[in-house]
Amino acid sequence: MRDTLTDHVIVITGGSSGLGEATARHLAAHGARIVLGARRLDRMQAIVADIQAEGGKALAVQTDVTDRHQVQNLVDRAVAEFGRVDVMLNNAGLMQQSALEKRKIDEWDNMIDINIKGTLYGIAAVLPQMQKQKSGHVINVSSVAGHKVTPAGTVYCATKYAVRAISEGLRQEVKDYNLRTTIISPGAIDTELPSHITDAQAAQAINDFYRSAAISADSFARAVYFAISQPADVDINEILYRPTAQPL
Ligand code: NDP
Repeated sequence: MRDTLTDHVIVITGGSSGLGEATARHLAAHGARIVLGARRLDRMQAIVADIQAEGGKALAVQTDVTDRHQVQNLVDRAVAEFGRVDVMLNNAGLMQQSALEKRKIDEWDNMIDINIKGTLYGIAAVLPQMQKQKSGHVINVSSVAGHKVTPAGTVYCATKYAVRAISEGLRQEVKDYNLRTTIISPGAIDTELPSHITDAQAAQAINDFYRSAAISADSFARAVYFAISQPADVDINEILYRPTAQPL
């Protein structure tokens, strides 16, 4: 039987690990053609090789989402290789928790540049192509942190609230082009995300919390599949989910 996703072209930023990697593997197994963008090319090439070994189609494009030209290049390469873009998954992200009084201002800048501006650059890069197609689906990755502010999570939460605001604005603006938009807000998922925290106190709190609650990245891949496999006239706008064990 033909899968709903057969031949869909899906661009995934942050495709070298965690949620992006799990989603690439899951959607490729459903017949989608995958274009991965992130900085670690070797990691993405290994994922591409695995997908191809299973008979799938995939491409890796080294991309730093803080550079809008590189994000445009990612989308352009997808179109050159596969002719269109059906789904843009703006997933690349960074979480560096610390109290504001620690003044880790470079980390604030990084989170704003990757989580907010990277998402906007993804939208800017793909919109003209989707407008031309009169179809497409933009999925932006927020978080439970985009619904609840926590101490030491202030700037990360601010970026994830921003992703939700941007996504809702986008949803309202693209009706004329027949585009779908989805925000996915996961709780604690077992990935490399907490490994970038440099503040010892915040790192310990997060690692303890993740050890007690975090679930597999496959949960996210299934949420993406659910959103994009709906009939074309169904627009799943927001998915918020947590590990069953997560209290916050
Ligand atoms: P990972 O750290 O495993 O993955 C992050 C991904 O983002 C990597 O592929 C990384 O690739 C990429 N990335 C980071 N900076 C850049 C950059 N400048 N340019 C391009 N790619 C970049 O964590 P997750 O998979 O968990 O994170 C994915 C998304 O999910 C993030 O937006 C995160 O905020 C969100 N999220 C995660 C949750 C969790 O508990 N894990 C919960 C809620 C939301 P590379 O380093 O190769 O560039």
